[in-house]
Amino acid sequence: LAAKLMDGKALAARIRAEVADEVRELGELGLATVLVGDDEASRIYITKKHEAAGEVGIEGRDYHLPADTSEQEVLDLVASLNADDAVDGLLVQLPLPAQIDEARVIRALDPVKDVDGLHPFNAGELLLGRPTHVGATPLGIMALLEEYGVNVEGADAVVVGRSDIVGKPVALLLLHANATVTLCHSRTADLGREARRADVLVVAAGRQGLVSGDDVKEGAVVIDVGINRTPEGLRGDVDPAAAERAAVITPVPGGVGPMTIAMLLKNSVRAARFRRGLLPFPRA
Ligand code: NDP
Repeated sequence: LAAKLMDGKALAARIRAEVADEVRELGELGLATVLVGDDEASRIYITKKHEAAGEVGIEGRDYHLPADTSEQEVLDLVASLNADDAVDGLLVQLPLPAQIDEARVIRALDPVKDVDGLHPFNAGELLLGRPTHVGATPLGIMALLEEYGVNVEGADAVVVGRSDIVGKPVALLLLHANATVTLCHSRTADLGREARRADVLVVAAGRQGLVSGDDVKEGAVVIDVGINRTPEGLRGDVDPAAAERAAVITPVPGGVGPMTIAMLLKNSVRAARFRRGLLPFPRA
């Protein structure tokens, strides 16, 4: 194994300790989550988020609605949480069941509480280079790069996956950090060719082993966001053989996953700061 492993667990623990101090300074702080239906992975993520919130003194409120909940019921709950002064951060766990229009629910969130950065206002501010709320996974990836001294300026950064929650926002953060960014997806003509060019390779596709060891450039920085449940445990999107060629690489588990949780807590503090006028939140 040539590559150095990026220890997301250790960095996340440090960030969580900082967040705990910040929560103490701010006093009461609330994070509400809305989960609709019985998706097993979503349930696990929500449980982890609440455990982590509790440990840093954030008051978590876990709303779990049945799979047949109507769109209007979700919109009504979001409206009541928007109006609730004890709720600083608010997220709706995706995916939502088919009868609910996700875009409509996301638009209904108060942007100042939108800790996932999915509301068009926050997504738009990120596009324009004035980030307000940015999702926890992209922020966690940037924090790992910084922690390991990766200079992305001028680097060829290749992102695999173009979701609103990971691929697109991390591509924008890398662009704003002056990388030259290529964004790949399922219709990319030759994924291997793109991956082999990457100085910084971020893979968020949800396909185990999508990027082979040979598709990683010698000395590259590799961030594996993928979480694939297999009988042998959690596996990433990058073949572990990539560690023979990469300079630094994130393990799965223990890389990006813990960072996502830590950055969500940090985003909740940020929401509280915005709401208390300690940080300016731009409004139309
Ligand atoms: P989505 O399913 O929303 O997006 C997957 C993206 O990967 C799409 O843009 C899709 O392309 C692309 N893709 C799929 N197959 C291929 C392929 N064969 N070649 C190239 N691109 C492909 O997933 P998310 O972004 O929500 O999550 C991605 C992965 O990251 C998942 O494994 C998820 O579990 C994990 N994840 C991990 C987190 C963590 O904290 N570690 C947090 C969030 C997600 P197209 O747009 O063309 O369909």
